[in-house]
Amino acid sequence: MLKELVIASHNKGKIAEFEKMLAPYGVKIYSANDLNLPDVEETGTTFAENAILKAEELAKLCKKPCLADDSGLCVDALGGRPGVYSARYAPNRDFDKAIAMLIGELKESKSDDWSAHFSCVLALKMPDRDIELFEGRVDGKIIEHRRGENGFGFDPVFVPDGFDRTFAEMSGDEKKKISHRGRAVAKFLQQVFNG
Ligand code: IMP
Repeated sequence: MLKELVIASHNKGKIAEFEKMLAPYGVKIYSANDLNLPDVEETGTTFAENAILKAEELAKLCKKPCLADDSGLCVDALGGRPGVYSARYAPNRDFDKAIAMLIGELKESKSDDWSAHFSCVLALKMPDRDIELFEGRVDGKIIEHRRGENGFGFDPVFVPDGFDRTFAEMSGDEKKKISHRGRAVAKFLQQVFNG
């Protein structure tokens, strides 16, 4: 049974989402910060490559089960960008600036199709076990003017298909049910806890 899990991330928004999703399973969660683990450089070109890199590197250092997530926003009119570079899209990981840059790029593209999706790949590295991957995706569109205060990153300008509210206008529970990370975590929970 999984008793403790290191989340291979320094992103507070993400850690908070993981803590909430894993709370019912009684797993003790550590962030990379809690254990003074370094930031692993994301040198991969796919979400899976980066998630594997992070999980393997941190598992080697801390010898505990590690779960890494790599995620990002892929915008059709921008050829799938920022994609794996989402976190580094704006200087200093400034989310407000990232949103402003994204809207600027979309306007410049002259495309009236602002379709986009979030993708998430989770990599689980347990001591003495092969790495396992769990993937999730949510389709939607980008809107010009930000709405809502919840969540993080591009949430205020992302409206998932079938909804008229942004992720930032949804509660954490609501977002979890349909988000890329929520879907990937559901697969992870199914595999590890059978539910
Ligand atoms: P990474 O997975 O830490 O490399 O960073 C993913 C980046 O993608 C974040 O910094 C955000 O810019 C964006 N992103 C990923 N998931 C979400 C989400 O659920 N909401 C909003 N932005 C997200």
